[in-house]
Amino acid sequence: MPALETMVTQHLAERHAAHLLRAIQPDAQTGLVSFATNDYLGLSQEPTVVAAGEQALAQWGAGAGASRLVQELSPGYTKLEAALAAAKGTEAALVFGSGYLAMLGVIPALVGKGDLVMADRLIHASMLDAVKLSGARLLRFSHNDLSILNNKLEINRNKFNNCLILTESVFSMDGDVSPLEAMRALADQHDAWLLSDDAHGFGVVETPRVAHLQMGTLSKAVGGYGGYVCCKAPVREYLVNHARTLIYSTALPPGVVASAEAGVRWIMQQQGISLPLQRARKFTHGLGLPEAESAIVPVVIGTAEDALKASEALKNKGFYVPVMRPPTVPKGTARLRFSFSRLHTEVQVEALIRAVRECGCVA
Ligand SMILES: *Cc1c(COP(=O)(O)O)cnc(C)c1O
Repeated sequence: MPALETMVTQHLAERHAAHLLRAIQPDAQTGLVSFATNDYLGLSQEPTVVAAGEQALAQWGAGAGASRLVQELSPGYTKLEAALAAAKGTEAALVFGSGYLAMLGVIPALVGKGDLVMADRLIHASMLDAVKLSGARLLRFSHNDLSILNNKLEINRNKFNNCLILTESVFSMDGDVSPLEAMRALADQHDAWLLSDDAHGFGVVETPRVAHLQMGTLSKAVGGYGGYVCCKAPVREYLVNHARTLIYSTALPPGVVASAEAGVRWIMQQQGISLPLQRARKFTHGLGLPEAESAIVPVVIGTAEDALKASEALKNKGFYVPVMRPPTVPKGTARLRFSFSRLHTEVQVEALIRAVRECGCVA
């Protein structure tokens, strides 16, 4: 057995050679206009959202002190969950420590050994980790391919007890949307439950509110931190009793809860096509790309090395655009991932279009 340091050093050297080494990004990409954020509406800086958090922090203190099942300190959770349920058109909502923790809590509470999970090929790592933890059998289907999903359900469904279908309403690496209504019909037909992750949809694009379990995060367009599931009231009660990441982890700090509620309320008052979507569409029109379906626009480059070079070229022109590489995306599809925010100006988007053209990233 190699020494710990030898093992990790070798591994890192291999990753580096393959252009796959990851690093935590330095604080501010100073001076660069960033197209990397998930804070699509800029709500993390929105005065009402910040003030709600400050007020709750002053009133209730810095930390929650215990799990929600032991002692619920602030009344903020009730208001936040009511706002989320109203936003999603469900009877109830349940808030978790983060989107990742929500997945890790909800999925293993609902399925386990003897159950089947059907997952879109491109779903987020948090859902895959949750399925692993659950012990349920995992089958994948080609991205957004309902006929393959249907075939696999026809062949496999009756060999299992419960069945859960996993998808994202807006896909985090491709920015496209899933056919949720047709999927819900398929789920009903095969006696399965549909779970959709709206992490990149909420606040940016209206996606159909048809999944049995509508999940997402409070850390993207909402501008704060936390995760949620919106569902029927008895499902919520069941999860309070069975979701281990809720039961065995400390509640969110009161200020975080209050800011999230203000963020959700802000989103509910928003009207018309969201600005992030408008900006993304301006970008795709400008470059002759397929019209953006969300605030996320991928430009697939190919190898990790070339994608890094493209990002570097944009950096030299004043733009920070992150690179997504395997294993986050399939091999050979390393890409630039542009994400647009309400805070980007039209002029910035126009300058970005010129820069991308000059770099030769888009044919
Ligand atoms: C970001 C993200 C999550 C995790 O949410 P956090 O609140 O950041 O833990 C889950 N699913 C998808 C699709 C995401 O993009």
